[in-house]
Amino acid sequence: MITKYIPEKGLQELKKNCQIIMPEKGKPFSDKYILEIAADIDALIAVRFNVSSEFINRAKNLKIISVYGVGIDNMDIEKVSKNNILVSNLPEVVTEPTAELAFGLMLALSRRIVEADYFVKNENDKNWHPFLLISNELYDKKLGIIGFGRIGQAVARRALAFGMKVYFYDKAYSNNDKFNMDVNYSSFFDILENTDYITLHVPHVRSTHHLISKNEFKKMKNSTFLINNSRGPVVDQQELINALKNKEIAGAALDVFENEPEVPKELTEFKNVVLTPHLGTTTIETKTKMAFEASKKIIQFING
Ligand code: NAD
Repeated sequence: MITKYIPEKGLQELKKNCQIIMPEKGKPFSDKYILEIAADIDALIAVRFNVSSEFINRAKNLKIISVYGVGIDNMDIEKVSKNNILVSNLPEVVTEPTAELAFGLMLALSRRIVEADYFVKNENDKNWHPFLLISNELYDKKLGIIGFGRIGQAVARRALAFGMKVYFYDKAYSNNDKFNMDVNYSSFFDILENTDYITLHVPHVRSTHHLISKNEFKKMKNSTFLINNSRGPVVDQQELINALKNKEIAGAALDVFENEPEVPKELTEFKNVVLTPHLGTTTIETKTKMAFEASKKIIQFING
């Protein structure tokens, strides 16, 4: 079963190997229906699906979960491994589009592109004076990257091409680690206190839950912009709202939220906040590639 519609172009090989149950585009299965048929499923492509313990209890024949993405944070992983169900994900496929969106968010926030678009379409008073929508440039600014894995490094490559100075913090690295690009290892607190843009690329695990909260906002400069397209709960959303209200930071761009798809109304009311609905991998190229790769994991499993 495939829990939500994904591009059929990527499913050709899988169709030759198994019977596929997938909803039509725009007509998602209800959670109730998925639970009802759980017992008949041998393999699952989990597309933004909460693999709950109730689902696992019912899915007695399930042998493999191929995650259509990278995050396995919405899965009762203990239960899954207890039931000897294999889990695979697609870390390589999602790197470039997610890094691209992080960078797009940073540009949009910094150059006020969303506000400018709104102005031209809705508020154009024809007084295009020289300081209209004055903004900040990325060139020569300090970018702090927290989480220097695949996506963090892909963001760094883009930032260097824009003439930014790149600092990173990652618990897996130290000052002695060398990278094939001009980046500087930093402590977590150095990044909070000294960089102009902070972008988050850690997974959501216990140690990163509310990694950025009240104290961290207090350490940031009030000219700093925060970008998060990792996972919502990495940032304490209420403390972000407080920091924005108190002008402790200059603005934020978010692709992910604590309780998706809920977004607090207050967050939508700041002009210096850019919001997107979890679009990191939402490109035609990547969605098709993901369908192909997620299928491939199942075919490989079937073929031993
Ligand atoms: P990755 O595993 O390659 O890199 C994550 C890095 O975070 C690792 O190097 C790890 O050492 C570091 N890390 C973990 N805990 C840390 C901590 N407490 N402090 C500092 N560093 C820590 O993962 P990736 O492929 O780069 O993906 C990063 C995250 O991006 C994913 O976990 C996922 O949640 C998110 N993501 C979001 C979207 C989207 O649509 N917005 C798409 C893909 C991935």
